[in-house]
Amino acid sequence: MKKINIQMVDLMGQYTKIKNEIDANIISSIESGRYVNGPIVKQFSENLSSYLNVRNVIPCANGTDALQIAFMALGLKPGDEIICPSWTYIATAEAAAILGIKVIFCDVDLNTFNTQADLIEPHINDKTKAIVPVHLYGQSCDMYSVIKLAEKYKLKIIEDNAQAIGCKYTLPNGDVKYTGTLGDIGTTSFYPSKNLGCYGDGGAIFTNDDILAEKIKMIVNHGEKIKYHHEIVGCNSRLDSIQAEILNVKLKYLDNYNSSRKIMANNYNLAFEEIDEIQIPKIISSSEHVYHQYTLRVLNGRRDHLKTYLNDLGISSMIYYPIPIHKQKPYRNNQVLENTDILSNEVISLPMHTELENSNQDFIIDNLIKFFK
Ligand SMILES: *Cc1c(COP(=O)(O)O)cnc(C)c1O
Repeated sequence: MKKINIQMVDLMGQYTKIKNEIDANIISSIESGRYVNGPIVKQFSENLSSYLNVRNVIPCANGTDALQIAFMALGLKPGDEIICPSWTYIATAEAAAILGIKVIFCDVDLNTFNTQADLIEPHINDKTKAIVPVHLYGQSCDMYSVIKLAEKYKLKIIEDNAQAIGCKYTLPNGDVKYTGTLGDIGTTSFYPSKNLGCYGDGGAIFTNDDILAEKIKMIVNHGEKIKYHHEIVGCNSRLDSIQAEILNVKLKYLDNYNSSRKIMANNYNLAFEEIDEIQIPKIISSSEHVYHQYTLRVLNGRRDHLKTYLNDLGISSMIYYPIPIHKQKPYRNNQVLENTDILSNEVISLPMHTELENSNQDFIIDNLIKFFK
């Protein structure tokens, strides 16, 4: 039997192609002597804000901090409630919990993997302060419905955009906006494997509200505007200049990277759409999909068998996520989230990255089809 080694991501392969540019920038950053929050960080925040067409981008240390800082900037206090999906990475809930905010989980749609207004609304009460939609795996939530819901109940929206940077969403009036710029605040992560990743930790917060932006800029830097004048409680969450140099290079290629992901996803979709035992990702008409992950549902109860089978062939796969947050020890409650529970037993993510070779993808596809024959 042919055996190869296909990983979920190939960061080295991507680096090799931009090595000259990256290396030169890193060296110039070291030689500049400005290691934290230097002019390069400012330049990156300007580049990203013009790419996203959002008034303010405030870089920070990682995507988890970005969420925490968003909650702090909106003035959320212990006892306040936020609503977020349980079907997301732990950070979405953790960033609220660390501030003493009560996290109420909502369910997600089985085929888009995202939450939507009718799944959020039943959880709203007079303690609810904000909704935190997550654009999971690279596709926008049905944001228009979420925006309408937030208006109805006067709630804030913080979009967790860690998996969907570069994803476009079309509003009913035809306006096209990037995810993360539709709510009050958007947050993202530049963790290496994200669609726009640096070579360490990094994150950012976006907002069109200049007053909020001023507050966020203070929070990321110990609550100060003027050095050693601390006006509010903040934290230390800044982006290193070296990471900003890397991000300045990679931002130029983000659209190309996302296009490669879409092509790969399309190949998977075409190959798998006729297989009754699997459900390919469903895309809503108002959103693109930038395929941070390519995630299938295995409908015949054999997901774990499939994972073992792929592993034996040298094909990596991942379960995002094996245990939903509402079943994790610190967050456990008696909420019943039917779809979330189903998904934790059905989903499997296949290798998806910008350097995936056609021959390797064909190998994955052929073998996956064989498994269901
Ligand atoms: C990666 C991720 C985060 C956290 O980002 P870090 O930079 O790792 O802290 C938050 N939310 C989601 C949905 C993520 O995928």
